[in-house]
Amino acid sequence: MRALRRFTVRAQLPAPLAPLQALATNLRWSWHAPTQDLFAALDPDAWERAGHDPVRLLGEISSARFGELAKDADTVVTVRELADDLESYLQEPRWYQIEREDDPSLPAAVGYFSMEFGVSEVLPNYSGGLGVLAGDHLKAASDLGVPLIGVGLLYRSGYFRQSLSLDGWQLEHYPVLDPQGLPLQLLTDADGQPVLIDVAMPAGRTLRSRVWQAAVGRVPLLLLDSDIEENEPDYRSVTDRLYGGDQDHRIRQEILVGVGGVRAVRAFCAVTGHAEPEVFHTNEGHAGYLGLERIRELLARSEAGAQPLTFDEAVAAVRAGTVFTTHTPVPAGIDRFPVDMVQHYFSDTLLPGVPMDRILALGAEENPNMFNMAHMGLRLAQRANGVSQLHGRVSRSMFGGLWEGFDADEVPIGSVTNGVHGHTWEAREVTALLGDPGPGAMAGQPSHEPVSDETLWELRGALRARLVSEVRRRVREAWLQRGASTPELGWTDQVFDPEVLTVGFARRVPTYKRLTLMLRDKDRLRDLLLDPHRPVQLVVAGKSHPADDGGKALIQEVVRFADDPAVRHRIVFLPDYDMSMARYLYWGCDVWLNNPLRPLEACGTSGMKSALNGGLNLSIRDGWWDELYDGANGWAIPTADGIDDPVRRDDLEANALYELLATQVAPAFYERTDGVPVRWTELVRHTLTTLRPQVQATRMVREYVEDWYAPAGRAAARIVADDYGPARELAAYRARLNAAWTRVGVTGVDASGLPDTPEVGAAMTVRAAVELAGLAPSDVIVEAVVGRVGHTDDLADAVTVAMQHVGDADGMGERFEAVVKLPHAGLTGYTVRVLPSHPLLATPAELGKVVLAH
Ligand SMILES: *Cc1c(COP(=O)(O)O)cnc(C)c1O
Repeated sequence: MRALRRFTVRAQLPAPLAPLQALATNLRWSWHAPTQDLFAALDPDAWERAGHDPVRLLGEISSARFGELAKDADTVVTVRELADDLESYLQEPRWYQIEREDDPSLPAAVGYFSMEFGVSEVLPNYSGGLGVLAGDHLKAASDLGVPLIGVGLLYRSGYFRQSLSLDGWQLEHYPVLDPQGLPLQLLTDADGQPVLIDVAMPAGRTLRSRVWQAAVGRVPLLLLDSDIEENEPDYRSVTDRLYGGDQDHRIRQEILVGVGGVRAVRAFCAVTGHAEPEVFHTNEGHAGYLGLERIRELLARSEAGAQPLTFDEAVAAVRAGTVFTTHTPVPAGIDRFPVDMVQHYFSDTLLPGVPMDRILALGAEENPNMFNMAHMGLRLAQRANGVSQLHGRVSRSMFGGLWEGFDADEVPIGSVTNGVHGHTWEAREVTALLGDPGPGAMAGQPSHEPVSDETLWELRGALRARLVSEVRRRVREAWLQRGASTPELGWTDQVFDPEVLTVGFARRVPTYKRLTLMLRDKDRLRDLLLDPHRPVQLVVAGKSHPADDGGKALIQEVVRFADDPAVRHRIVFLPDYDMSMARYLYWGCDVWLNNPLRPLEACGTSGMKSALNGGLNLSIRDGWWDELYDGANGWAIPTADGIDDPVRRDDLEANALYELLATQVAPAFYERTDGVPVRWTELVRHTLTTLRPQVQATRMVREYVEDWYAPAGRAAARIVADDYGPARELAAYRARLNAAWTRVGVTGVDASGLPDTPEVGAAMTVRAAVELAGLAPSDVIVEAVVGRVGHTDDLADAVTVAMQHVGDADGMGERFEAVVKLPHAGLTGYTVRVLPSHPLLATPAELGKVVLAH
């Protein structure tokens, strides 16, 4: 008989083992090796059966076994010690608490909103890099004590699980998760009733959800779940899958995570007494509707004596405390909705008092029929960033249209290079050998005693061997699923060789990542794999979006190549790439291959995880590798990104890849002195010394705290003071600016102050008359801009100097003046421009307003 439904009943633990419950439900176990060891030791077979999932493990262990364990003094002591350790991890002051003693302006809490969170494979709520990054962000925040509240959705089936058909086509399945069996706790009110979050939908209907809490160390993660009886069937399925439905499904999910997410945070803070967020961080555009809900809250303010705010005043207040991170350098990857769909959903019942035309203006883009979530994200956040230095530059030019009149390098989008959570992704042997780099580690400061070549090589060998057995196990399992029978599969015991140079390539399969670049010249690849002296073995994995048949065809091409009995011992495609597989690959691969179409990889993080374990990157200089490749920590595949013909570009880059593998990588790996590849171990050592500290997620989260959350928190605190006086003042300023701006102009520029013999460093006086159209001189800054000019008059390497207001100009406006030291030799040009100036603006470019002299 088949069960109609399934659910999980939690075990009754004997009193001495009761702390196991907390150890299993706080996800800190997933990056705490001693706690994992404890779970494994409770019942090694059950631990394997439970797929290394502590909550499942506690359901698998028999009461008889629990009885024995409760009488075992060592077990009881270990349980208590680890529970105490968890308790102090959760309570003790950490980096943030110490910082906050010096700087009480640091925010009391930060809301971190994301469509996906990859914290651990036991909570499969992610599809790829974006989610895993969000998970690493929460874990590093927890380690640093940063008071984050994570907000997302709980998907009934998460992302799909991947398997292969006999002919190598991707098959998708969606196992249903039972929240009772996950490390989650329902958010309940003071009476123990589940908190329900309501979001109004069209036609007078309501979408309701409950809120699950996961504990990611110190960080609560709130996940909204619409699969409840209080919803009609079509609304129960709003949180069925991640990235699974049509646009309608998608906008409902985004309304739920943004609007519902803010309401869930409010409910959570009210119930638990947790501090309210002062800063809201939108991880990619999906959750951007959170800004609209916060505007609604401000319009509906009803505290005694509080003056209501206007829409513009509310926008000013919301912007101050919002940080927006964009992850998409591909214009086609930007999240957009048809305008009429937004109009359909954003009724006056969903967001009472928020005018539709203002909502639409926030998401406006070139196409008047589309609503652009990234544009709204940028308009509702005073601070925005990309996720590597290169991606910051790409974003500044990609979104430059929102700051017309400014050079790309002035567009106020910064960058924070992603990082990865060391304790999650580093093999414990590496940590044991090298110590914990800690949150304050700097590049080049070794956190450990010098390690000999032999020791490093042994370490790499052990990690490679572990990968090889995992590869064999998975290849066998994959073939059983594809319909092979056990007697046919003897060969899988010979797949891979623990002594052979191992290259990994695993990631999602969008076109720009070019999964099949390695197959460009199949004979050449075969030669590399089968080289009698210096063979290479290649492990490949990745999921294609279910709707992307092109991606599935690429996977099929790899699978067919790897199915060939002549090479199948040297190349494998492993189905169902997820965090649990990824770990073995990052530990064991000697080389991590990445060949995206530059500059379409915003950051990329898998190569960082490989580097943590002494893997060497072999990558196009894109994303993080563009800034952290130093010539001695791996290899840069030359990019042909000036070449427009995509076929030729792929040929050139594939050639460069084969060439590097054959002439650089393999020789360094196989040339041995007394059995040790000295050149290789030197590259490994350099990678571990210099890259390991820089790729840490703690480094990333500290940057967010210091350069983004702290200023956003101060701006938010300033703007809400005195019953939102500054928000009103800033909104009034913007209104005045808008009314006057088209009439502001530079009416005259006088260069009589040019020095007689212009040489570098000589002083030039620039004088200008500016029509301010009723604005006060203090409402603007007038700047002299001096730089190089070429055959066009475009200024390069420009230096800007603020001009002083020196009086009025006899009916020609106001006079401004500056002395500028000539910055460059050669052909030089200059101009004058007028920008808004207000103490509550983060940068003069912020409002996208500038008037140039002409
Ligand atoms: C790190 C990670 C990714 C992201 O890898 P990229 O290099 O950014 O493509 C994707 N999936 C899993 C399971 C990961 O651990």
